This record gives sequence, C-alpha cells and structure tokens, in this order.
Amino acid sequence: MKSGWPVAFSILILFLSAAIGMWRYRGPEPLGMSAPADRPSAARMRKTLIALLGNPPQVHTTGTESGEQFLQRLEDHIGDLGFQSHRIEIPWDPEGQMRHPKGQVQFLPPDAVLKNLLVTVDGKSPDLAPILVATHHDSCRWGPGAGDAGSAVVALIEHLRILSRDPPNRTTHYLFTDGEEYGLLGAYALAAQETMPFRAPVFVLNFDARGTSGGVPMFETHSNNQAWVDVLINHLAPPKITSSLAVTVYRTLPNATDFNVWNGQWALPGFNYATISGAHRYHTVDDRPEIVSDRTLQHMGDQLESMHRAIDSLDAQAIGDLTVQSANDAERNAVFFDLYGITVIHFSELLQKIMALVSFVALCIVWFWPRKSGHIRLFITYVICIGISIATGFGVGWISKGILLTTPWRTSRYTPVDQPAGLITLAVAFLVTTVLLEKFGGLRLRRHESPHRLTDLNWIGSTALGVLLAFLLPGGAYLLVVPGCVYAMVRVATRRPTWAAWCGMIAMAALVGPLLTLLVQALGPWQQPLYGIVSGLIALTTMTVWCVEKEGEIRGDDRANAPFPNPNESVL
Ligand SMILES: [Zn+2]
Repeated sequence: MKSGWPVAFSILILFLSAAIGMWRYRGPEPLGMSAPADRPSAARMRKTLIALLGNPPQVHTTGTESGEQFLQRLEDHIGDLGFQSHRIEIPWDPEGQMRHPKGQVQFLPPDAVLKNLLVTVDGKSPDLAPILVATHHDSCRWGPGAGDAGSAVVALIEHLRILSRDPPNRTTHYLFTDGEEYGLLGAYALAAQETMPFRAPVFVLNFDARGTSGGVPMFETHSNNQAWVDVLINHLAPPKITSSLAVTVYRTLPNATDFNVWNGQWALPGFNYATISGAHRYHTVDDRPEIVSDRTLQHMGDQLESMHRAIDSLDAQAIGDLTVQSANDAERNAVFFDLYGITVIHFSELLQKIMALVSFVALCIVWFWPRKSGHIRLFITYVICIGISIATGFGVGWISKGILLTTPWRTSRYTPVDQPAGLITLAVAFLVTTVLLEKFGGLRLRRHESPHRLTDLNWIGSTALGVLLAFLLPGGAYLLVVPGCVYAMVRVATRRPTWAAWCGMIAMAALVGPLLTLLVQALGPWQQPLYGIVSGLIALTTMTVWCVEKEGEIRGDDRANAPFPNPNESVL
C-alpha cells in the first residue's frame, strides 16, 4: 500500500491530539499544605472537606438532623475565618414555589425548612455592585456528597480564607443553597421571595459536581454572552477547559444546577462550572473524601480564585460598558473553545456564519471552475464513503455497547470504565473505517476518479454542514467551520489540495481530539454507537489527507508519496 505513510501519519496526529487532551484535562498539579497563603491549596481543601463531612462521612440531606449538623460545622468554619454567616430559612412550600420536581420531593421530610446560608465579604469599594459565588451544601440521599458538592463547598471556604487576608474591591456574596438535590428547591425558594437577598450582583460563578475526578470545565454561560466572554473567558484557570458546544450537550442530559435560577429567574450573567469525570461515583455511597481527586479540588479552587479576581479588577466604567454592550447587542453570543487547555479562542456567531459561507462559496468555485466532467460519478463515490463511515462507526459502537451489556455494570448509568471504553470505541471505529475507506477508495479511485477532486468534494460537504450548523447549532459549528475555513484558505492560496488537506485535517484534530475525552465523560457508557459515528466521520475527513496522496500513485508519480507535497502540483 503506497499510501501507507499518510494513513499512518494522520492516525498518529489524531491519536496524539486526543492523548494530549486527555492528559491536560486531568486537571492542574495539586498544591500542598505549605502552598502560599494567597493561593488555593488542594491539601487545605481536603482537610476542610474531611472536617465538614464528619467521621465517618455523613449523608447530610435537607430537613434532617445530619443536615443541620453539617450546616453548623460549615458556619463554624466560616466563623473561624472571621466572617459572619446568616441563614435564610424558608419553609418548603409547593404553593409558593414555581418548581415542583416530580419523583424527588416526595422523599423530603415533612415540614422541611430550606436553610440557605449567605456569607458576605465587604469590598473595599462598597459603592461597586457585588459578585455572587454559589454552590449547594446539601448532599443527595445516597452518599456523603464529598464531590457533589463538597468539593465546591470547600473551594468557597478556601476562597473566603484568601479574601480574609486581602479583601476584594467588590463586595462578594457566597451563597450555599439547600435542597438542591431535591430539585433546586433552596435556590427557587430564594427566587420566589419578593426581593433578592442582596443588591443585584454583576456576575455569578456557580460550582457543582457530577463526578469526583479530573479538571473542572466551565460548561454553561448566560445567553447574549459575547461581551462578557470576550473580557473574561481567558481568565479560566489552567487547564482552561471550555467549549460553547458544552451547553448543547448539557441540555441533552438529565442534570440541572442552581445556575438555572441565578440566570433564568434572576437574569444574572454568569459562568457555571462542574466536575464531570468519575461520574460512576456521583450520587452513590462512594462519593467520599478519599475518592475526590486532589486535581479536582485544586482546579475548583483555582477556577474560583482566578475568575473572581478577573471580575473584581473590572472598574465601574468597564462593567457599565459591558452592561450597555450586552443590552445593545441583543442575541449576540460567542463561539468559544480551548486549545489543549492552554488558551481559549472566541469569536462571534456572526463571524462564524461569515467564515462558513465564504469557505463554502470559495470551495464551490474551486470545484466548478475547471468544468471537468464526472461530477455525478464522483458525488456517488462520496456518498458511498459517507455511508461506509456512518455504518462502520455505528456497527463498531453497537458491538462495544453489546460487550458492555455483558458486564455487571449493565444496569448502571455510569461505569468506572466510561473513559477507556468510549475512547477505545472511538479508536477502533476510526481504524476500521479507515481500512474500509482505503480498500473501497483505492478500488474506485484507481479505476475512474481523481482523488484530489474527491478531497475537495469531501471538504465542500463538511463546510456545507458547517454553514447549516452555524445557523442551527452555532455553539458546536466551529468543529466543522474552522477546519473548513483552514482548508479553503490554503486551497485557494496555494492551489495545492495536499497541503490544504493536511492543514484542514490538523485543525480538525486539534479541535476534536481533546473534546473526545470530555464527550465520553459527559455522555457515559451507553452512547457507544454515537461515538462510533463521530469517529467514522472523523475518519472520512482524515481520508482527504491520504486519498489526495493517491493522485501520484495512480499517475505512477512517486513524488506524491514523499512526505512533502509534489511542488509541481497545481490543480485549481
Ligand atoms: Zn450537586
């Protein structure tokens, strides 16, 4: 197989990209007890977590004695730092509250009182509007909730400790809600009150957990977020884990957080963070302190500290400008995503639409310009390749789902092997699809067709889908639009499909590779067929790299098989 090296090299790039993502997204290096006092430390947070949960770690649900004891320990800790906490107690009242989650509240003890806890740190400039930081202090009924949301509670305490040494400019409110696990009851009870318990905050940072390990992604923002994202998004703590696609994925899951209230009821702009790895321990007896990873604690603390500092450093003028801009630019949202947690790229949905349309039109011109015949035959080849990719991916996905169904985890929503199982499915589906495309493509292309024309057609197909998604699902469209744009630019500028295909493929690998880890963590073990299809389509795009190399092979031109493109190649 002469096209061996491009196949191998493209597989290497993609796998390397996914591996770097997996390695980066495991979270930051945890700091010990001797960490500088102005930095969050995982070791200090762990000590607080163990003390708060009691020995042995206690389940502390709403309306129970152990719930009250946990709250008292929390108040004591806050008191030790020199801050006053005050309770906002609201009796649970289905009539007075707009949300009545079914199947949950029936387990609430009769006459339960929702005990939200508010701690206020006065700012140096009391005239500036405050910042709100929130999480929930109650655990679920099945376990002590060391991760959910103990890891967030101790991050808030660690931050209070830092601010006790160096007060912020803006007054900062810490809200520990109650009854979150019964359906966001404490937060909704606050929203049902006549007024907010404090002056309207400029921004809210909400923290929660649906797992016990890995880095802490910022996965949800308010809508019309362009102005805020531009100013704040690169203040995420490294590794900066985020994607505007995450909101779309999150809405397909049965999870909800108090952010629904802060943003939906109080209309506050904000960022929402949650741990998602290690989900098999979420809402179980195993959600204990020794299971929560140090990296998760460190990242939770870092995320809060870093973003709070960024917002706190904005003066009244800057916040005023942001508010005016947000009000004027109604319906302007940002598309954003990180590159291996190092930096976050962000641009407007409008720019994304323009990029998508321009690349699509440019590639269509490239395609129709030479007025060659054989469009239909080539189109049929392309459609068959799409069919091979989807069918193969789906098949591999079903087989791995079948294998998982033979294990004792078949009744669990999440399993300890979610991440390896998902990534193995992705890898196998990719490899099998690639082999089949190589066999089929080799046969068909050798007989009739020009591989670089198939490469162009493939990228026209993906930019066309990119245009569609830029309008329908803008948060995730960047995965197609950015690589398509790279392909179109290089293709038009150099006229070399080989170079264009490599650049487009590398852009795709950089965006998609790391995201695969988050995808399998977020969706769990039972979406293997979906992972297979995703992988099949990645293999289809990767095919453009090695099928274009076949040009030389078919012509008997060995230069095209060299690691660098044939310099004489000019085929626009
Ligand atoms: Zn929670």
